[in-house]
Amino acid sequence: MNQKEIHGRAHDFCAPFRIDDGSRFRLRDINPGDTLNLEAGNKPEAQQVLREGVELLAEMQAKLYAQDRWAVLLIFQAMDAAGKDGTIKHVMSGINPQGCQVHSFKAPSAEDLDHDYLWRCNQRLPERGRIGIFNRSYYEETLVVRVHPELLAHQSIPVELINKNIWQQRFEQIRHYENYLFHNGVIVRKFFLHVSKKEQKRRFLQRLEKPEKNWKFSASDIKERAHWDAYMDAYEDMIQHTATPHAPWYVVPADNKWFTRLVVAAAVIDTLDSLNLHYPQISEPAKVELATARQQLLEE
Ligand code: ATP
Ligand code: MG
Repeated sequence: MNQKEIHGRAHDFCAPFRIDDGSRFRLRDINPGDTLNLEAGNKPEAQQVLREGVELLAEMQAKLYAQDRWAVLLIFQAMDAAGKDGTIKHVMSGINPQGCQVHSFKAPSAEDLDHDYLWRCNQRLPERGRIGIFNRSYYEETLVVRVHPELLAHQSIPVELINKNIWQQRFEQIRHYENYLFHNGVIVRKFFLHVSKKEQKRRFLQRLEKPEKNWKFSASDIKERAHWDAYMDAYEDMIQHTATPHAPWYVVPADNKWFTRLVVAAAVIDTLDSLNLHYPQISEPAKVELATARQQLLEE
């Protein structure tokens, strides 16, 4: 496949899952088992596309780095065992580690809680020329914190500021924040890896039954699973209110890992493609300088 074809394929793979305007979004419209009619038999072909895509991504990232203008922030949100870690690992596998920064957000520390909820994320934003990855993010503030209101009480926010509109207020704050990031050259893309409850059960059982996977299991995973419906409602509301043209959500079917990786890689390629990246142009005086330096070396 030539590069133009890969760009075209990448666009076709991710476009069906991109949400630019959340107002009519319904989670039930996305089937976690969807593979866009690619059968498991197409897996080798999909893997080939993924391999070529990853190579292309590395090239694009080198230009992003050389140009040093835009930063790209990829946010991953999902229920446990949806495949965040594996997807990040595969999609970014070809990229120069110096140009990529990954951060996993866990439960906030005492220091984090002494600040507003965007504080810790803001410190981890990628620099210009870099791709930053948030494994979980400030969106947890509208997910786990919403499903477990006692976490909000623990946050030491002045009580008079907590009211029933707090989630809508947070959506608005996040929309403004992402708009601010865009206008500062930070391109935000958000991925919800949408796994089904049935597939999560299968993956949890594997973690429990295969000794080499035991370490991945934590008892809290089962506790969160019990709140499945509340989480799905929170995800739907979040996507409805925070999907914008500048910072779209991709709701990625996650029951088939090979397909999840393909869609995410495609979306990253499509995103970098939209930036029209190129190596910085060398000015005429700089060219003369390079020629002089070359001459000096040759004459040594
Ligand atoms: P793994 O795949 O290794 O399980 P993980 O992302 O689930 O990765 P954990 O250490 O298991 O990592 O979980 C991190 C926990 O931190 C999650 O339960 C998440 O909901 C919680 N968390 C993240 N951000 C916040 C937040 N702002 N407030 C409260 N809890 C949070
Ligand atoms: Mg976990």
